[in-house]
Amino acid sequence: MRSPRLTIASSAGNFAGWVSRFSGRGRGETIRGRALLALYPRALTELAKDRDIILVSGTNGKTTTTANLARILADGTDELVTTSTFGANMSAGIAAALMEKPAHRLVVLECDELYLPEMYNALAPKVIVLLNLSRDQLHRTGEVRKVAALWRKTFTRDDVTLVIDRDDPFLEYAAGDAGHVLRVTFGGRRHPDAATCPACADLLSWATGDYECPCGLGSQLAQVRGDHRLSGPARNTVLAIEAARLMGGVVPVETAQELTEQAPDRVSTYHVGGVAVETRLAKNPESWRVALESITSTDVILAVNARGIDGLDTSWLWDVDYSPLLGKRVVCTGERRLDAAYRLHVQGINVEVAHTFAQAVSSSDKPVQAIASYTAFQDLAAQELGLRRAGGRQ
Ligand SMILES: [Zn+2]
Repeated sequence: MRSPRLTIASSAGNFAGWVSRFSGRGRGETIRGRALLALYPRALTELAKDRDIILVSGTNGKTTTTANLARILADGTDELVTTSTFGANMSAGIAAALMEKPAHRLVVLECDELYLPEMYNALAPKVIVLLNLSRDQLHRTGEVRKVAALWRKTFTRDDVTLVIDRDDPFLEYAAGDAGHVLRVTFGGRRHPDAATCPACADLLSWATGDYECPCGLGSQLAQVRGDHRLSGPARNTVLAIEAARLMGGVVPVETAQELTEQAPDRVSTYHVGGVAVETRLAKNPESWRVALESITSTDVILAVNARGIDGLDTSWLWDVDYSPLLGKRVVCTGERRLDAAYRLHVQGINVEVAHTFAQAVSSSDKPVQAIASYTAFQDLAAQELGLRRAGGRQ
């Protein structure tokens, strides 16, 4: 039974969300959640009561993995599953998602790294999936080790099971005091930000593609072993399958294999000036590295912005190795095109600069692929929608 206070606050939240949508200010989810929490701060706990909640967090792949896990769980349990929409992963967005279908027992929520302690305490989740930790939005989250230490301080009880990729030393450290941990290993990957041990600051030995430290970090055996050739999104799918199984979902071995093979990637094709441009989303050094490795065209566009969600601090540009672009023709665009172009120039890469993405595309007479930072990718997606709508009216 909902308390009267929750009912009133929910109605007020719904009204605020409706006003926001009606006045064209946005989709209204965040406003709705914000109004609810302002009127009734304990709403999260009440909305989560008697439900089975799974949280998904980490630097890369949260939104995709959350959607993926919700689908796998729904198929594996034949139950309806509520999940996050549009990547709204802080308290207000999570409150809005929980308000959506209060009768659904199973809930899969994406959670921002810094909000994870608060959501863990408020929602009492059964399972938390930790995908990876690497440098991201330096102005906001700071160093990776700070996030890992915050998580370690949080997970000291045995009322939750963490599902982690144990090949990430920061996750292994974060789970160090947790009661229940399901460790998944893929092996053969060196973490770009973990030269030293998150626990004791000693140099980690990475000789075998796996890490070792005299303090014992990483010595716990993994219960699940995945194929070392899997891509980042496919590894996240393996973690999602394990989480679904922990929640009672039935995922036969063949289904798991199929799901892993068709793991989603953040690649979209946008049409700019009549040219189809295969575009990869890259949000932080690790996702840039993965995106750069998958570029096959000789002409490449890099679109770099530095608005809030991209991270205002672009010093990470210097942490990425751009050697896959050597010998290619590269055009930088976006608000930080000059920062990006100078960085590439220093690495000896032929680089040009274009004011707009459309100009960058039109300067090439060959098939071109692009990598775009978060807001640059969103801008392209918005333009694509506009294009389609305009096409529909003709
Ligand atoms: Zn150590």
